[in-house]
Amino acid sequence: MAIREILEVPDARLKVVSAPVEKFDADLRTLVADMFETMYDAPGIGLAAIQVGVAQRVLVIDLQPEDPDAAPEECHAHGGHSHSHQPTKREPMVFINPVLTPVTEDETVYNEGCLSVPEIYADVTRPSAIHARWQDLDGNAHEADIDGFLAICLQHEMDHLEGILFIDHLSRLKRSMVLKKLEKIRRAA
Ligand code: ZN
Repeated sequence: MAIREILEVPDARLKVVSAPVEKFDADLRTLVADMFETMYDAPGIGLAAIQVGVAQRVLVIDLQPEDPDAAPEECHAHGGHSHSHQPTKREPMVFINPVLTPVTEDETVYNEGCLSVPEIYADVTRPSAIHARWQDLDGNAHEADIDGFLAICLQHEMDHLEGILFIDHLSRLKRSMVLKKLEKIRRAA
């Protein structure tokens, strides 16, 4: 596994429409493993393949990354003394070739951020619930109705596959304000 470089605005590759995955092979497994490692390292809760420069319809999500060093499966391996803290359980989810359909008129406003738009947060309105269809690493098909925070996150990541960033949902004025702020943050760094 390897941590890959995360592309940031205004990198033109972030506007590319990603292509469907056709081969469920070792390269795909390596890509997904690297995406998880990169996302946990950032840390973030979701990552699309295009954010590491790979234009394929692959998303990884884990809504529980609070403790990036937590590895509950391996806790016993440390041995010797008992742990006083409860490590956060990881819940890695992979969505390959996802297709999302809104299933409600209800909308949710959430203050979103993105690893490709560092340090910027803005309110985005999206459908509250979606029907999702996707494939797993073996190419098996899955579907589910999804609501809550996962629905928001999935829609945000799905946008990346179409070359859309969360700031593209903002008004032109708001977006230019946000990009100016990002420039300022970068100059200060
Ligand atoms: Zn994002």
